[in-house]
Amino acid sequence: MHRQLFIERDEATGLLSDEVHLFVAGKKCVPYASDLRAAIAQARTSEAVQPDPVRTLPVFRYYADPFKSGVMSPSGETCQCCGNATGYIYSGSFYSVADESHFCPWCVADGSAAKKFDGEFNDSFGIGMGEIELSEAVIGEVSRRTPSFFSFQQEQWWGHCDDAGQFLGEIEHLDRSLLASDTGLNFRLGIQETPALSTDADWEWLIATPSKKRDVACFVFRCLHCGEMGGYIDCS
Ligand SMILES: [Zn+2]
Ligand SMILES: [Zn+2]
Ligand SMILES: [Zn+2]
Repeated sequence: MHRQLFIERDEATGLLSDEVHLFVAGKKCVPYASDLRAAIAQARTSEAVQPDPVRTLPVFRYYADPFKSGVMSPSGETCQCCGNATGYIYSGSFYSVADESHFCPWCVADGSAAKKFDGEFNDSFGIGMGEIELSEAVIGEVSRRTPSFFSFQQEQWWGHCDDAGQFLGEIEHLDRSLLASDTGLNFRLGIQETPALSTDADWEWLIATPSKKRDVACFVFRCLHCGEMGGYIDCS
């Protein structure tokens, strides 16, 4: 059986997206690999551990796209919680005394990995960033049923309107149109209160430079209730 892979091309810039998707029944479907090289490696792994195109990936209320941030990726690895190779693996942080830390998206989402190994994906103390108080239920969902993200320092989680915000990603993954909107401009003003990023040139550098080439990261969240954006600057 043949399956087609799909890479998006931005019409305006002509740039190819980094992500490769599986193309099923005329539709761009599940994330398949983070780039072309990874897609070739994935295509060579056995059919038994290929992503199942009809099994819907779990949706994380507080996390827009864990594949884009790279903490989830297509992989032939076996989940250390349920023991199944689902075609995907989580390899972000997991704070626990256990050695296990690679889980399938489903064992992250339903809390079974956090429960089995008594751990947290996101440090409870950083949820709300010390600025707002959140309910036990919200803190539990973010710490034990939501993927983390790659950061220099222990991650923090921005909150607003008495709820945790939804993690949109590092600023390199944000839509330029969102950054240019009124909410985006408000967010920019907040970030530019950081002395090292106060000028327009600093901002242009931040949004034009891939995160791998920066010694600062800018993590962006959005309020699920009012749409306001917030986040923080993380330094190496
Ligand atoms: Zn699992
Ligand atoms: Zn591994
Ligand atoms: Zn809000």
